[in-house]
Amino acid sequence: MVNIPFTILFAVSMLAFAFSVYKKVALIRQGRPTERTDRGGLRTAAMLINAVFQKSVIRGSFGFNHALLFWSFLVLLVANGEFIVNGVFPRVSLDRLPEAFHHWLLLAFDIVSVLVLIAVVAAILRKLFHPLYKESRTAEAFIILGVIGALMLAYMGIVAFQVMIGWVPWQYAPFSALFSVVYAGRTTPVEVHQLAVFFWWAHAVLLLGFINFLPYSKHMHILTAIPNVYFKLLDKPAVPQRENFEEVTNLGAESFKDLTWKDLLDSLTCTECGRCQVNCPATLTGKPLNPRTLIHKIKENMNENEAALVGEGEHQISKDAVWSCVTCGACMEVCPVFIEHAPKIVKMRRNMVQMNSDFPEELLNLFENMEQRSNPWGIAPSERTKVFTSIKAQDFNPEETEYLFFVGCAGAFDSRSKQISLAVAMLMDEAKVTWGTLGKDELCCGDSVRRLGNEYLFEQMALKNVEMFKARGVKKIVTQCPHCFTTLKNDYKQYGLEIEVIHHTELLDTLVRDGKLKVNDNHKKTVITYHDSCYLGRHNGIYEQPRNIIKAITGKEPVEMERSKDTAFCCGAGGGRMWMEENLGTRINVNRAQQAIDTNAGTLCTACPYCMTMMSDGMKDLNTKSIYVKDIAEVLAESVLL
Ligand code: SF4
Ligand code: SF4
Repeated sequence: MVNIPFTILFAVSMLAFAFSVYKKVALIRQGRPTERTDRGGLRTAAMLINAVFQKSVIRGSFGFNHALLFWSFLVLLVANGEFIVNGVFPRVSLDRLPEAFHHWLLLAFDIVSVLVLIAVVAAILRKLFHPLYKESRTAEAFIILGVIGALMLAYMGIVAFQVMIGWVPWQYAPFSALFSVVYAGRTTPVEVHQLAVFFWWAHAVLLLGFINFLPYSKHMHILTAIPNVYFKLLDKPAVPQRENFEEVTNLGAESFKDLTWKDLLDSLTCTECGRCQVNCPATLTGKPLNPRTLIHKIKENMNENEAALVGEGEHQISKDAVWSCVTCGACMEVCPVFIEHAPKIVKMRRNMVQMNSDFPEELLNLFENMEQRSNPWGIAPSERTKVFTSIKAQDFNPEETEYLFFVGCAGAFDSRSKQISLAVAMLMDEAKVTWGTLGKDELCCGDSVRRLGNEYLFEQMALKNVEMFKARGVKKIVTQCPHCFTTLKNDYKQYGLEIEVIHHTELLDTLVRDGKLKVNDNHKKTVITYHDSCYLGRHNGIYEQPRNIIKAITGKEPVEMERSKDTAFCCGAGGGRMWMEENLGTRINVNRAQQAIDTNAGTLCTACPYCMTMMSDGMKDLNTKSIYVKDIAEVLAESVLL
């Protein structure tokens, strides 16, 4: 026998659900291709750890509550599966299983239902009284939580009836048995039965209604989160995709169709938890960029089939938002479902710059200088050789010099950063590490132009550099700039360069630990705090080496700022923002400088020439003289060479 009314309701709702999912899949399929199916074993492991075991969810605030809901959802899939099958075929039920097993299943469902109720109440209270961001108090969020809670109550109402009539021993449904209080006062068996029927149909309608609501709500992530984690970026950092200049006519992302299918899947997967926005330096300093709303707008833009992603319309992302990103990666680091925000922003910049020459005027000089003289200031290349006039420096020669010291534009031209280059060079000499430079032949690595979206220019610079490294027989590179470091090490792989590239903090840490650099007591009393450069730390995972050096110098761990390591706050110069004015909101570097001052340290150590400039400027803005800003190499040099 088949339950005809329920079967019709179920069939109609499943058809509607399938149609909704089909429409979403059709939208995602409009995205560009990207390779996300390699290394299946690693992907499966990442999916199990992060989606099934909820590792990435739990590490954030209120994460355990969400994990509890997710695991309960998995258990209740069995209960709801039975509910539907039993609804269509009333004779098919879990009670056909061995009695003991069935009873234990019922107990599990009962306990889990109560846990879900508790988690729902906790989530409602949190949203009301302590939300991560206040806009999260939406009607949709409360409706979803309300429906989940109501589903649990309806289920318990059904089981309570089964306990009352003796189908289920109360010991295996103790919480639902308590729920039978709702039947109290019903005087006739007919009334009791009617109430049970009401709960059954309420559960059926809520369940099928909820399933159909999913594709149109932020709860779509129930369906998309697990695949999104499976297809996540496996390698760090998120290197921008190379453009195919010969075949692709529309560079970067003008419309949502120019994003990849994974970008579009990302947009449907956002849970709107807000973790990205409370870690985004642009949002926190009042810029018009919010990574959560950026992803939301991409979804809306796709749903509405809008022509352009960037603009001033309701479902468009403003230009100011696009140019506010410092590509620090803080958003991506904390996102529980591994959404990739910054690469999407770079693609939008790329379209604006490459297709429409639509970029802030202040970047015009930068692009011209890079093109003509391969450095941001347009200084004559011959000036590069002047950085080491006070010490003996030789040209790189693969027979005699182990490392190519890639000095970088800031390290060669900026007066403050030149001192860092000198410190690194002198420490290498002290440790008898052989090194050489390319002198006036060194070219800019192109980091800033790539993050700013000038991909064609970047490609020219990368090709020239790779050709030169190969022609000169370079096997190992050391840089004093995390931007050069990441670009040569990671971005240039796309151009066939796979050689050892290390940052000076990695090399110096090894030299100290190997005893090749002997530290004296000069800085034993210095209290140091360390600012993690985004492109060294979060993007490349180098957190410990700089701290090891500080520990060797002072004999103690650095004092940590409120935001450090993978939650560190950007200095404000990444993503090409080094070359742009900061006119919106408050200044990121001043915020970060204040965080350093708050540690009461006497010295702020940086490991990046951009961070050095931004932190020094921040200290000047705050008019403080209580803290020195020095590169780690400089402090180490003072402890080794003086
Ligand atoms: S990369 Fe940094 S600045 Fe850009 S959206 Fe993410 S957190 Fe904000
Ligand atoms: S993008 Fe990620 S971190 Fe940001 S709100 Fe969405 S799910 Fe949360």
